[in-house]
This record gives sequence, C-alpha cells and structure tokens, in this order.
Amino acid sequence: MPELPEVETIKNELLPHVIGRCITGIDLCWDGIVRYPSPDEFRNRLLGQTITWLTRRGKYLIFSLTSTGFLIIHLKMSGSLLLKTTTALDERFVRAIIYLDNETAILFRDPRKFGRMWLVPDTGEIASKLGPEPLSPAFTPELLAQLLQNRSAPVKALLLDQARIAGIGNMYADEALFASRIHPLRPGESLSPEEIAHLHQAIQKVLRAGIKNKGASIENYFRPDGAPGTAHFEFQVAHHRGQTCPVCGTPLQRIVVRNRGTYLCPNCQS
Ligand SMILES: [Zn+2]
Repeated sequence: MPELPEVETIKNELLPHVIGRCITGIDLCWDGIVRYPSPDEFRNRLLGQTITWLTRRGKYLIFSLTSTGFLIIHLKMSGSLLLKTTTALDERFVRAIIYLDNETAILFRDPRKFGRMWLVPDTGEIASKLGPEPLSPAFTPELLAQLLQNRSAPVKALLLDQARIAGIGNMYADEALFASRIHPLRPGESLSPEEIAHLHQAIQKVLRAGIKNKGASIENYFRPDGAPGTAHFEFQVAHHRGQTCPVCGTPLQRIVVRNRGTYLCPNCQS
C-alpha cells in the first residue's frame, strides 16, 4: 500500500504537470471509484475546473480547484496515478482518467479497486480525522509520548492508527520499530522516554529515506511516469520473508499484528 513517502513522491512528481491546468474531460471506467458525490455530479462539477494546488495529508492527495472545492484521492491498497499523453492511454486496470488541457491525462490505475475519490467543498472532514504529520515540526518526541501513553495496544497498531499519526503504514512501521529496536507487540504505554525518543527519530529517518528514494515498489506502486521507487532496497526487515537480520544474522520472524504481516528480529527487538 502506498504510504507517506509514496504519496509524497506522487505529489511532488505530479505537481509541475498539473498546477494551472484545466480539467477538460473525465472518464469513469468504474463508477465505484467515486465515493462522493454521485458519479454524474462528480463529472459535471469537475469539468472545466483549474487545478490551483496539490498537497498531501497523511496518505491522501488533495487537489485544490478554482471554484468547486477539492478533489481528494486515496490510493488505498494498490492505486497509482500515472501521467500519460492522451495518445498513450492503453493501460490495464485503469478506473478513471482525468484529461488536462496540456494533452496529458492522469490515469487512476488500481488493480484491486480499493482506491477512492471525493469532490468536497472543504478538506475539514478528512483532515479532522487524521493525526499529526510525522515530518512536521508539531510531531515532537513529547507528542509521540502523549500518543502512546495509557495505551495497552501494541505499539505497531498505534503507529498504524491514522487518527493518531497520519501517513505511516505497514512497511515503514516495521522499519521504524526495527531501527529503534522495539518489539512491535510492546504495549504503547510500556515504552520508556528513551525508547520513545529513539522511535521518534527512527520514524522520521525511515520516512525521509523513503521520500529520498521515491517510495518503495514492492507491489503495485509506481511513480507518475511509470518508474518504480527504490526505497525497498534500503529496507532492513519489511517484506524480508525468510531472510536474516542484517545486524545480528538471526532469522527474521514474521508475526501478525492486528491482521498485518509484521517482520522483526527476535534478537534485536525487545
Ligand atoms: Zn537482529
């Protein structure tokens, strides 16, 4: 699933191609991709709008429009946004196409069909459900301590809770917990101030590395030009099934935390 670094990369790489562009057409190849309003209303209201800005919040992409609010996109499990010239649109699994006035189109490709789009007058409803951005100045070790205190849930589950911290998913949670030597099943409230400081630093480090390497292409993630990211080449444990710990050589373990496959080193992480 695209996480913060993947969505940030998509945002950065789409931005120069979409800002100031007018939406000249919309094909909905699968109506179910529009969550709000109705597909017809979505199409009618989006047509003729100019994209004035593009930003990211958590794992959401937010396109600001001239007069009808915001187009919000969540890529969920397998979505990607591909930028193509209008003469090269023969991609598989395309659920929607947004045509721009520069002879390019944004293809919403999504093999598993979990991705969604919304057209809303303001972003409050989505933004108010999300916790702080982990790379923002507001995200301090003290804030992380508050988010974990009095919580008996596994620390990994707390890191994945978007209402607590926005943007961290399965891969980067495993990487951050490995880098800070914390076992994913530790109750949030059991972490010492020193462990919280390490975890805070590790979260920012793995997310920044993910952005620098343009995201991790383990499954269906592609950048807007169709190229893969390279962040997964630096992963130490995430998706390293059947491999050994790069630090101590112990075979890595795969456990399930709240239905999510989780990789850890049973020797380094406690
Ligand atoms: Zn180890």
